[in-house]
Amino acid sequence: MLEIKNITKIYNPKHAQPLKALKGINLTFNAGEFICILGKSGSGKSTLLNILAGFDQPSSGEVLLNGKDISKFSGIEMADYRKDKIGFVFQDFQLLDHLSVFENVKIGLAMEASITKEKKDELVNDILYKVGLTKHADHKPSELSGGQKQRVSIARALVKQPDILIADEPTGALDSETSVEIMNLLKQISQSGKLVIVVTHDEEYAHMATEIVTLVDGM
Ligand code: ADP
Ligand code: MG
Repeated sequence: MLEIKNITKIYNPKHAQPLKALKGINLTFNAGEFICILGKSGSGKSTLLNILAGFDQPSSGEVLLNGKDISKFSGIEMADYRKDKIGFVFQDFQLLDHLSVFENVKIGLAMEASITKEKKDELVNDILYKVGLTKHADHKPSELSGGQKQRVSIARALVKQPDILIADEPTGALDSETSVEIMNLLKQISQSGKLVIVVTHDEEYAHMATEIVTLVDGM
């Protein structure tokens, strides 16, 4: 489904000392896989995820989605890729405090002009049920635990039904019991046929992965 070929990323290329964050990465990911990306701080994990998610472009190499090179996409094609194919989950949840859980999840559908309001409400309710937050739909983020906040963030990423879910240290702000819960939820999502790619610095959860990628100094 997603293949990257010889990806490099150089920050500050015109600087006297450019920083080679990725040094020629080759990977192939398929639907239904649960990929864990491990590596020390600064090894290039977020750089790789940002390229896969279409937030940033590689300096060289190809990112192929079903055989099409997204690194050559125009701005509009890239925006569509991010909107339709990718759900992204952040370590710090990125929820809007003044909105309810329901409204936060609905933000995931904000760009979907062709879906009616009724259908959007139905999609939000369906996904809240799947992540176990139906009872909390009207609560504000401040009324939730860390694990519940991360479930909201996962629901927001999933509500538009992307093929690929990408999470950058989704358990970084959670205690170990809650982390297991969230990793189990992400695994379950992969088993429903999506490609789930998770960066975790916690090797404890890597055994749950179908495939482990370890980055060392951009390699
Ligand atoms: P990780 O997520 O594994 O901690 P990153 O991908 O964030 O690693 O960073 C990899 C390397 O690239 C680090 O040396 C980091 O300092 C550098 N880096 C990351 N983002 C930028 C940027 N926007 N500009 C310059 N250097 C960066
Ligand atoms: Mg990082």
